[in-house]
Amino acid sequence: MAKKRFIAGATCPSCNEGDTMRWWQEHHVEVVECVKCGHTDRRSPVASEDSESAPKQQDAQVIGIFKPQ
Ligand SMILES: [Zn+2]
Repeated sequence: MAKKRFIAGATCPSCNEGDTMRWWQEHHVEVVECVKCGHTDRRSPVASEDSESAPKQQDAQVIGIFKPQ
């Protein structure tokens, strides 16, 4: 069973509501979901055999989405 945790201070990129985002790991991929509008997003695995095809740059961009505006 995946543990779902809320992301403190995160803002949904879809509905712009704050503190509605939660995340969990699914098959070594981080999944984030907005409980308000149902928006979901997936992040590249932090460490896996596919690390070469998942540049760190992409990670930084995804994290940027969740910064409060
Ligand atoms: Zn939302």
